[in-house]
Amino acid sequence: MKPARIAILPGDGIGPEVVAEAVRVLKAGAFDWLQFEFVEAPIGGAALEANDDPLPPRTLAAARSADAILFGAVGDPRFDTAPRAKRPEQGLLRLRQELGLFANLRPATVFPGLEAASTLKPEVIEGLDILIVRELTGDIYFGLPRGIRAMPGGEREGFGTMRYTEGEIRRIARVAFEAARRRASRVCSVDKANVLETSQLWRETVTEVGRDYPDVQLDHMYVDNAAMQLVRSPRQFDVLLTGNLFGDILSDEASMLTGSIGMLPSASLDEAGKGLYEPIHGSAPDIAGKGIANPLATILSAAMMLRYSFSSEAGAARIEQAVARVLRSGARTADLGGGAQAPVGTRAMGDLVISELHS
Ligand code: NAD
Repeated sequence: MKPARIAILPGDGIGPEVVAEAVRVLKAGAFDWLQFEFVEAPIGGAALEANDDPLPPRTLAAARSADAILFGAVGDPRFDTAPRAKRPEQGLLRLRQELGLFANLRPATVFPGLEAASTLKPEVIEGLDILIVRELTGDIYFGLPRGIRAMPGGEREGFGTMRYTEGEIRRIARVAFEAARRRASRVCSVDKANVLETSQLWRETVTEVGRDYPDVQLDHMYVDNAAMQLVRSPRQFDVLLTGNLFGDILSDEASMLTGSIGMLPSASLDEAGKGLYEPIHGSAPDIAGKGIANPLATILSAAMMLRYSFSSEAGAARIEQAVARVLRSGARTADLGGGAQAPVGTRAMGDLVISELHS
C-alpha cells in the first residue's frame, strides 16, 4: 500500500515545537493500515527569511501533492511593519485560497478535568462537544461589489455584498451532514432568514440537502439566537452549520467556552476531502523557544486528519482518548494552569500522549 503523504508546514514561533510532537504521535501510533511519508517545507516568516516569500513555490507544490497538510502557525513580530504581501500570515491565506479549502471544521470540546478553565460554570460546559462547520471562501467577505464611495453631497458610504450560490451552500451543507453522521447526527443550520435574502436561500437549500440525510436531524436557528444559546446552554448543539461571516463570530465564541486556546484543533477541507489541519492558536512569540507550549491542539489536529482525510475513525479516537487519559491523570502544560502537579513542557506532554497510545 502506498504511504499517505503528509506535508509538514511548521511555520513560526511555537509552530515547529508543537508540530514536532504531533508528528511523533503519528509516527508512534501504528494507526490501522496507514503508513505515512512526511515532506517538510517552510511557510510564513521562516519562508520569508529563506526565500523572501511567505509561500514559496516549493511549499505550495509540496502542499498540492500531499494527501493532507499538517500546519503549525505563522506570525513573527519582525515582519509586523512589512508590506501586506511580505507578511507571514499571507502564506496561510494564499495556501487556503490556492487549495480551495472551503470547509472549516472547528470542534469545541471540553475534556474532563478542564471544566475550570472556562469562564462559564462547569455544570454548563461539562461534556461539551460541538463541531462548527463554517463556509470559508464565500459570503460578504468575498462578494462583489464592495467598497467605500462618495455620495452626492460628499458623505461617504461603505458597502459590501452578501452572496452565496446554491452550489456553494449545497457543498458546505453536505460536509456538515456527513460530519454529523460520525457524531450525534444533529445539524443546526444558522442564518438570518427573517431579514436577509442570502439567508433565505441558505435555509431553503440546506433543507433540500437535508432530505438526502433522513438519519440526521436538521434544525434552523437565527444567528442572534445561536449566539445567545451558545452561552446559555451550549450542550444542545452537535454540528453547527454556518456561512463565513456568522461562523467567524460563532466559532470564536464557541472556542472560548472551553477556555483553553492551546487545546483546540481545526481542519479546512477541499471538495475531495483533502485537508489542512492546524491548531486554532497562533505562533505565540511570547513563549516561543521555551519548550512550554501546549502541543495538544496540534496533536488533536492530527487526530482530525486521521478522521477526515484518511477515514480512520478508530485512529482519531485512539489519539483523542490518549489525550483525555493524560489530562485525567492530572498532567497539565502551563497554559492550562491549576493542576496539582508541576506543569509539564511541550516534549513531556508529547511523551505522555505517546505512552498512553501504547497502553
Ligand atoms: P496566539 O494564539 O499566538 O497567542 C495568544 C496567547 O495564547 C499568547 O499568550 C500565547 O502565549 C498563548 N498561546 C497560544 N497558543 C498556545 C499554546 N499552544 N500553548 C500555550 N499558550 C499558547 O495569538 P496572538 O498573540 O494574537 O498572535 C501571535 C502571532 O500569531 C501573530 O503574528 C498572529 O498574526 C499569528 N496568528 C497566526 C495564526 C495562524 O497561523 N493560524 C492564528 C492566530 C494568530
